[in-house]
Amino acid sequence: MEYMPEFRTARPATMAEAVAIKAAEPGARFLAGGTDLVPNIRRGIVAPPTVIDLAGIAEMRGIEPLAGGLRIGAAVTLAELAAHERVRTAYGGLAQAAGGVAANTHREVATVGGNLCLDTRCVFYNQSEWWRRANDYCLKSKGEVCHVAPKGDHCFAAFSGDLAPALLVIGAEVEIIAPKGSRVVPLGAIYQDDGIDYLLLEADEMIAAVRLPALAEGFRTGYAKSHVRSAIDFPLAGVAVGLRREGKAIAELRIALTGTNSMPLAIEGTEGLTGGPPDEAMLEGLDALIGRQIQPMSSTFSPPGYRRRVVAKLTRSMIRALYLGG
Ligand SMILES: Cc1cc2nc3c(=O)[nH]c(=O)nc-3n(C[C@H](O)[C@H](O)[C@H](O)COP(=O)(O)OP(=O)(O)OC[C@H]3O[C@@H](n4cnc5c(N)ncnc54)[C@H](O)[C@@H]3O)c2cc1C
Ligand code: SF4
Repeated sequence: MEYMPEFRTARPATMAEAVAIKAAEPGARFLAGGTDLVPNIRRGIVAPPTVIDLAGIAEMRGIEPLAGGLRIGAAVTLAELAAHERVRTAYGGLAQAAGGVAANTHREVATVGGNLCLDTRCVFYNQSEWWRRANDYCLKSKGEVCHVAPKGDHCFAAFSGDLAPALLVIGAEVEIIAPKGSRVVPLGAIYQDDGIDYLLLEADEMIAAVRLPALAEGFRTGYAKSHVRSAIDFPLAGVAVGLRREGKAIAELRIALTGTNSMPLAIEGTEGLTGGPPDEAMLEGLDALIGRQIQPMSSTFSPPGYRRRVVAKLTRSMIRALYLGG
């Protein structure tokens, strides 16, 4: 790890001030908990001339009721989110995802907004400056070739945030603020499957809050991930499931993944698997459905085939557990 380079720090007191600073200086970066940005600055991966510290913005910190659901400020920490009584009881998968990020020391400072905007990851990118220089860098930063797919012109770095899939199955929305005003969009609308430009936010936009809708009676959620070191690690793959049962049949099923693509992936077509119990035929159909939509590449320590098997295993066991009421 290199020494910290010099940069200017701005400490706005309001969101309006924060986005005005960003608009005036597009190369600046927002700093929330800093658990992703600071290591990346120290590794020379990013070198912002100005860092906009969001810690002093009180209006970003609350969890409030909203239209039968919840509004979660972007600066709420993952520890606060995981411990929140209503989140634990009504949005169990989200509490599990927040409680499983990194280690408890990280979760005390790491925030919801930072987790949703987490940079994509790759074994050829999350390295020190000298390591990357020795390998002629790569497409995502300063280089001309992708070491994962050398003949292509695309970056396959993996999105590895835990919260996004748990929020996608809930149908969460994000509030985005900019100097020209604010907008509310479905969470999935801020991502695209591109390891470099994975976020569809304008340079002067910031996430202000996340909105959770009220869930249908009996709709239960869960989140599970596979990681190398259970005490502290990014997901090799993470699976969020939302399921509602009517009698013996699955009436509603939503699945979203992390770690498999350059964006958190909401699996399309799950409604075709509802109407019956999670028997072997249904689960085989599910494996095929997911298999067609994920694209794990050799951008992480575990091989793509292993991550495919992990996703299938985690999804199957999560569906069975939610179906049985676990
Ligand atoms: C050892 C280690 C293990 C980790 N394990 C995990 C893990 O298991 N799962 C996981 O999901 N993450 C993991 N992380 C990554 C990181 O700790 C978390 O994703 C964390 O939630 C990031 O939040 P932060 O507030 O610290 O973000 P920051 O580092 O402050 O910011 C991250 C990015 O988001 C941008 N940003 C921050 N807030 C906003 C906002 N409101 N609007 C727009 N942009 C914003 C920043 O500019 C930056 O680009 C790990 C990190 C480390 C170092
Ligand atoms: S997938 Fe390719 S371009 Fe993207 S970070 Fe990895 S090596 Fe670089």
